[in-house]
Amino acid sequence: MSEHALSKKEYNRLNDTKKYDIIKDRLKERGIELIDMAKLTYDLQKPYVPELTMEVCLEHIDRVILKREVQHAVLVGIELDVLAEKKLLSEPLLSMLLGDYGLFGIDEILALSIVNVYGSIGLTNFGYVDKLKPGIIGVLDDAGKEEGKCNTFLDDIVGAIASAAASSIAHRYAK
Ligand code: MG
Repeated sequence: MSEHALSKKEYNRLNDTKKYDIIKDRLKERGIELIDMAKLTYDLQKPYVPELTMEVCLEHIDRVILKREVQHAVLVGIELDVLAEKKLLSEPLLSMLLGDYGLFGIDEILALSIVNVYGSIGLTNFGYVDKLKPGIIGVLDDAGKEEGKCNTFLDDIVGAIASAAASSIAHRYAK
């Protein structure tokens, strides 16, 4: 993590593709590969698009992560999880995040800014995976319960990216 802020010029040079690489690295550092999200997307859309492949799912995950608003939500969410693990947040927010309190609600709200980019199919899919916690979401949820670990924002971010990609596929392939 950098210790000084980027100058305006340095920041402007960070185009969306470079930010995409940063997002991919940041997710990886938190244990998430793009393929994990593509698997969720595949399971969500396969019943509606029988010819669907993992390659197509990965392509749409990429598309979602290239969106600026999505990148910003990912950066904010992951940063808050990391700051909570380092105990660098003040109370009562620190305990809310470390305890992943069900009524906190802001993790889901942040994730909505991701699904909003792709319309209502993204929204309904997000509610569905949030409730059932399939695949990597369940893994993150369990890992976040370990002492000192915080995935409060990350599980929603991952569910939202997968759901947004499912929505993007639905709009592209719907018959
Ligand atoms: Mg959460």
